[in-house]
Amino acid sequence: KLHNTILELKGNIRVFCRVRPLLPDDGVETTVVSYPTSTEAAGRGIDLSQSGQKYPFTFDKVFNHEASQQDVFVEISQLVQSALDGYKVCIFAYGQTGSGKTYTMMGRPEAPEQKGLIPRSLEQIFQASQSLQSQGWKYKMQVSMLEIYNETIRDLLSTHRSGGSDITRTENGVLGKQYTIKHDANGNTHVSDLTIVDVCSIREISSLLQQAAHSRSVGRTQMNEQSSRSHFVFTMRISGVNESTEQQVQGVLNLIDLAGSERLSRSGATGDRLKETQAINKSLSCLSDVIFSLAKKEDHVPFRNSKLTYLLQPCLGGDSKTLMFVNISPDPSSVNESLCSLRFAARVN
Ligand code: ADP
Ligand code: MG
Repeated sequence: KLHNTILELKGNIRVFCRVRPLLPDDGVETTVVSYPTSTEAAGRGIDLSQSGQKYPFTFDKVFNHEASQQDVFVEISQLVQSALDGYKVCIFAYGQTGSGKTYTMMGRPEAPEQKGLIPRSLEQIFQASQSLQSQGWKYKMQVSMLEIYNETIRDLLSTHRSGGSDITRTENGVLGKQYTIKHDANGNTHVSDLTIVDVCSIREISSLLQQAAHSRSVGRTQMNEQSSRSHFVFTMRISGVNESTEQQVQGVLNLIDLAGSERLSRSGATGDRLKETQAINKSLSCLSDVIFSLAKKEDHVPFRNSKLTYLLQPCLGGDSKTLMFVNISPDPSSVNESLCSLRFAARVN
């Protein structure tokens, strides 16, 4: 209850910051991140030091490098639960490549305590839906997984339908497929040709997640592309019917691992890489524009300016709930990118 009140006050958009630990690969032992100790900012503040200057930021929550996957999940489990109550939920991970987005979303599924919020959320949804059966609720869950690369949608579960061997990939994904996005009057999104799989257990979803990871890596070698340069969108549609009260709910849970936010100047891109980086920058700034104008309750929200925002349109406005993780690397060589990420997140906050 308290959680919902907070969301309403904030226009249903919240921003959490997560700082990953220093890793051996960083090659340093100093960090540019510190945390204000005043009681007011405790757990919500982060200071970034650059060239002797301190830049303070405040978010709805800040997780330092010691926060475990469970610590993070505790803070989002009610939000996940609200998808079972019929809400549309989006959780994003934003940040430069190497800042911990995929760790936060997927984690290391092979190590139970390092599972990320996607597997944890799905486990919770299945458990909760089972315990709600005793109150007469019956749920149907459907899953799709796609990737948006250079403003083009690619179905990550298409081999689920066609067996996998006869697939020809082109820049548009699977040959001949259109993946046109349409929204109906009920606020449901339809992507033509996209594979949607009915799921009844966590085991089924795990194998779909594996399949999606495989599709991503296959696409990667064929298109000379890295997964860090595309947005990964996991969508679960949840339809619930209560057999005694005839109540119905339709919730959606979108979990999105965004493309790396690193800027053009640093990557020194030319040719295809340049085009790719521009597409990423454009869609991330479109996302920021959309969330910013939703937070300010502006009349015109520019959903149509990118594939990602158009796809998620019904799940971003209205009484839907949005959470953005901004992931931060603590090492000094990332300080410029970290500052950019914090500013991006402070804007949508
Ligand atoms: P991104 O997806 O943003 O490119 P990753 O999630 O792949 O970044 O993280 C980069 C590296 O840092 C990986 O080796 C990952 O396991 C590790 N890492 C990220 N966050 C954490 C964390 N909170 N605790 C431990 N290791 C982490
Ligand atoms: Mg990643």
